[in-house]
Amino acid sequence: MILPTDTLRQGTRDPFSVRAALPAEARVSETHQTTMQFSNRAPAPAKPPTTPGVRARLAVAQPDGSVRCNVCAHRCLVRNGRTGICGVRVNTAGELWSLAYGAVAAAALDPIEKKPLFHVDPGSTAYSISTLGCPFHCVFCQNWEIAQGPRLGLDIPLRPMSPAEVVAEARRSGARSIACTYVEPTVFLEYALDIGELARAAGLRTLFITDGYATPEAVGLLGSVLDAANVDLKSFDDAFYRRLCGARLAPVLEAIEAYRRAGVWLEITTLIIPGANDDEVQLRDLAGWIVERLGPGTPWHISRFHPDYRMRDVVATPTATLLRAAEIGREAGLHHVYVGNAPALGLENTHCPGCSRLLVERHGYQVRSHLTVAGACPGCGRPLEGLFSEVRV
Ligand code: SF4
Repeated sequence: MILPTDTLRQGTRDPFSVRAALPAEARVSETHQTTMQFSNRAPAPAKPPTTPGVRARLAVAQPDGSVRCNVCAHRCLVRNGRTGICGVRVNTAGELWSLAYGAVAAAALDPIEKKPLFHVDPGSTAYSISTLGCPFHCVFCQNWEIAQGPRLGLDIPLRPMSPAEVVAEARRSGARSIACTYVEPTVFLEYALDIGELARAAGLRTLFITDGYATPEAVGLLGSVLDAANVDLKSFDDAFYRRLCGARLAPVLEAIEAYRRAGVWLEITTLIIPGANDDEVQLRDLAGWIVERLGPGTPWHISRFHPDYRMRDVVATPTATLLRAAEIGREAGLHHVYVGNAPALGLENTHCPGCSRLLVERHGYQVRSHLTVAGACPGCGRPLEGLFSEVRV
């Protein structure tokens, strides 16, 4: 089992990666490796356990023995003996099975700010888990070992954990929530649903850090267990999604709105890659879409790119680009624009949209909240949008 970074928060790689176990050509640069403060890394088993597997939800058997998977917008037609694009949903004799259920590839106790979810219980921790597999093939992926491991044939140690064990470990660790993260969590839909049900009964929130490629059917199932999600809106250009991620833009926009309709608290993240998605017109359109479709109180996290995986020939995002993107977000009418992976800029604090008072101070993962217990501004009394203790605005 390994400890990856959150896909959306480049530059926070974990020192205990499977780097040493990888073939030389598969190893990643250590240039941006930093120490992660919050870690409860579980010991990796000596060899991978037998994957339990369960029957897949949202699977439709076809007369020819193939099965249509309707979990993500790829809607793979999976032939007998093959897996879908994510590599963890397999057709065995005309039935689709999830290989990801209960097979944990990474687990860590993370600050919720690392997800990033800035408007959900600031300063709390989230017990974060992941399996293998991802429907996207982003060339700039920070967690490519576990996301693309099945496709690349990497031998990643897995830890068997039942949903009850995940919830028990989360409670033991003092976390206030369980985050399904590091890879796209819809690939382990069945596992996430079972974890979410038990988490709710235990008084824990369930969070998704997601690429937003879930189908309306999957969002329909997830809506009953999810409290909040950070959705990666990588670009407002369909060509970007096709060329760099092997996906499409429209389903992401549809899923974001579906999550919103399902009552899930949303925060949006955009990793700004020089020359790929830093066009000002495109950023203005993206920020304008958030304001119009999700509301001006939706937090927008702009994240700094660092070279990784198959995109090492592109420089890190210049400071000027990040500052201009933040300005565009504010000009569009967004109340909360944050810049991540660039701590020197100090653009991670939360201010009251009513009176500008400082509500939450952040220095890295050190958090100081000035919110009232009801999640409101102590100055003007305006409630801050988000999830704060038991309060939902
Ligand atoms: S989850 Fe997505 S990528 Fe995986 S099999 Fe289903 S439709 Fe294909």
